[in-house]
Amino acid sequence: MSNYTQRVLDGLKERNGDQKEFIQAATEILTTLQPVIDRHPEYERAGLLERYVEPERAILFRVPWIDDQGQVQVNRGYRVQFNSAIGPYKGGLRLHPSVNLSIIKFLGLEQVLKNSLTGLPIGGGKGGSDFDPKGKSDNEVMRFCQSFMTELYRHIGKDVDVPAGDIGVGGREIGYLYGQYKRITGLYEGVLTGKGLTYGGSLARKEATGYGLCYLTQAMLKANGMDVPGSTVVISGSGNVAIYACEKITAMGGKVVAMSDSNGYVYDPDGIKLDVVKQLKEVERKRIKEYVSAVPTATYTEGCKGIWTIPCDIALPCATQNEIDEASAKALIANGVKAVGEGANMPSTLEATAAFQAAKVLFAPAKAANAGGVAVSALEMSQNSQRLSWTFEEVDARLKGIMEGIFAKIDAAAKEYATPGDYVAGANIAGFLKVAEAMMAQGAV
Ligand code: NDP
Repeated sequence: MSNYTQRVLDGLKERNGDQKEFIQAATEILTTLQPVIDRHPEYERAGLLERYVEPERAILFRVPWIDDQGQVQVNRGYRVQFNSAIGPYKGGLRLHPSVNLSIIKFLGLEQVLKNSLTGLPIGGGKGGSDFDPKGKSDNEVMRFCQSFMTELYRHIGKDVDVPAGDIGVGGREIGYLYGQYKRITGLYEGVLTGKGLTYGGSLARKEATGYGLCYLTQAMLKANGMDVPGSTVVISGSGNVAIYACEKITAMGGKVVAMSDSNGYVYDPDGIKLDVVKQLKEVERKRIKEYVSAVPTATYTEGCKGIWTIPCDIALPCATQNEIDEASAKALIANGVKAVGEGANMPSTLEATAAFQAAKVLFAPAKAANAGGVAVSALEMSQNSQRLSWTFEEVDARLKGIMEGIFAKIDAAAKEYATPGDYVAGANIAGFLKVAEAMMAQGAV
């Protein structure tokens, strides 16, 4: 690492030492950008890296709401507007008790490069709250969302910042948020994506992240002389990304044998019955362990980590950050895993990623592999601006083209700047080059 990069990283650690997820993401990104920094000595004088790792704006706010017992509750809301060099801020809102500034900043930093990789004109941001939607009534979720938007609305807009869903934010929450935005501003505009189909949503947005993950994983396999048909697949999580990854990889000829939630995982050697999972998760909002009541030949195991000890050819972590540690990575490698496609954001620790790469496992990092969601969100923005709705097939075809385009970019960047097949470096570099060029062109802002 050059003196310049090291200095930026050291400064970042000094100022944000307690933000471990943010430092983890920044360390990985800055380390892999070194070949670009070497070729562009002018970046140091322009303070480019210092600007790149510092959000343009981080907004923190109080979210008071009234529970069903009439008690006032208070949560903390966040919106980090990280980088608008190539377009309005764009990135999801996460509702989960673990949410803090470190997590939102790591997600925002990643989002900048992810959005750049899509080739679409969107900058990076992220937000959310430590509110836990689990166990809350619809009315409580609505009151929370209305209060959250009552502060957020003044910071966003269709050409300013366009939030979307993430963990804990699906169609229901986007609907409540959108309703409140419209009520306060009187504007019917594409200020959020992931909207319902009756009020400006895009067909295939729900499926986009999971489908996109499979398109990119397949492109990576093919480029390395392999393919999906006949593969055994393990998918963690059973939320939006996991469900549609399961649907697409199964359609491609893979067999998914395990899925999970934050309590445990189910193993179904005959292949996961996705209709059962959808009913449990999308309709009844129940736990994954109920799967075995509908499919008695399957087994349920308490705890999440064990899912990575199940032998598979393809692993698709689609739950949350740092869910694959070094021990889990080594278990997957020992069982012969050939490819890992990250559906969740930063699901592998730095040590796990290094272990996969050392073992020559094909590894598609999140910012490339899960970019399908934000890509279709950007297509939703285009449709809203045009006041048009494209067909499912049209959106899906564009999504497939975008994901294959992303793979081509990260493959080429890995070959040109790093080591062929190092898609972690390839994704960081390909994403960064466009943002860096735009930032240089716009001066020291
Ligand atoms: P959902 O809330 O729909 O689902 C999340 C799933 O992960 C649930 O099964 C949940 O289980 C599980 N999970 C959450 N936290 C933990 C934890 N700490 N330990 C173990 N399991 C956990 O979220 P999404 O599917 O939308 O998001 C999943 C991941 O994909 C996140 O990292 C998100 O940032 C990323 N992503 C999502 C995009 C999207 O379009 N939705 C786009 C790009 C990335 P439980 O129900 O028990 O909490």
